[in-house]
Amino acid sequence: MWDTFKTRWQQGHRTQAFPPAQPLPERFRGRPTIDAGRCAAGCTACRDACPTEAITLAPLTFDLGRCTFCPACAEACPSGAIAWTPDYRLATRTREGLLLRDAALPLATALDRKMRALFGRSLKLRQVSAGGCNGCELELQALNNVVFDLSRFGIQFVASPRHADGLVITGPVTANMRLALQKTYEAVPDPKLVIAVGACAISGGPFLNSPACHNGATSTVPVDLFIPGCPPHPLTILDGLLRLLGRLESGRERNTA
Ligand code: SF4
Repeated sequence: MWDTFKTRWQQGHRTQAFPPAQPLPERFRGRPTIDAGRCAAGCTACRDACPTEAITLAPLTFDLGRCTFCPACAEACPSGAIAWTPDYRLATRTREGLLLRDAALPLATALDRKMRALFGRSLKLRQVSAGGCNGCELELQALNNVVFDLSRFGIQFVASPRHADGLVITGPVTANMRLALQKTYEAVPDPKLVIAVGACAISGGPFLNSPACHNGATSTVPVDLFIPGCPPHPLTILDGLLRLLGRLESGRERNTA
């Protein structure tokens, strides 16, 4: 017992400030940058290497809603036109916002005043895994640990959609899960929010156009926030949620630990 107390004492304060005081490690693959000026005429190496058809050419465009951050494209590029930054901020309000043509990404804007008044300080979410592999689900679960401590922001996961203000959807929406997703959405009282987490929930990801899937959440319900990644880092999810609630624009969350 004494050893347990001693170990816990030595661990000290573990909850991470948000936004984090230190940048993420260099090896973390966050927002990519594209320098199309380096591309050789006629080169298709990145597009050919991409396993999820996330790249289109002329102009060179990354669909971050399909990208799994693998990073085969950067490895295949002979001119170093594609690079990765450790910037974890990736969430957008629209599907089109995830089409990246340079370094700019239209980060998620806040809900309107009425919705912020309802949800800005207390948001209850029901998670629906619509055929997910458990990658995104594990990162959502990590938000509840002492490091990310989601509940300090007044955001919590609840068991029943009838107690929820919105849904967090993961997975490509398999044929078997579509009806369950529809019924869960209908069970959430209005007004409600829908958040798509991960490449599968945004576009179908690696399962795009599979006859067993419906290419993501927008096939079935309207989506208010898209959080890309495969899976997204907990900080990416947290950043998207707080932007949606207007709590980063005001700067109130700085140094919250
Ligand atoms: S990092 Fe994304 S865009 Fe590049 S090859 Fe992998 S899935 Fe395709």
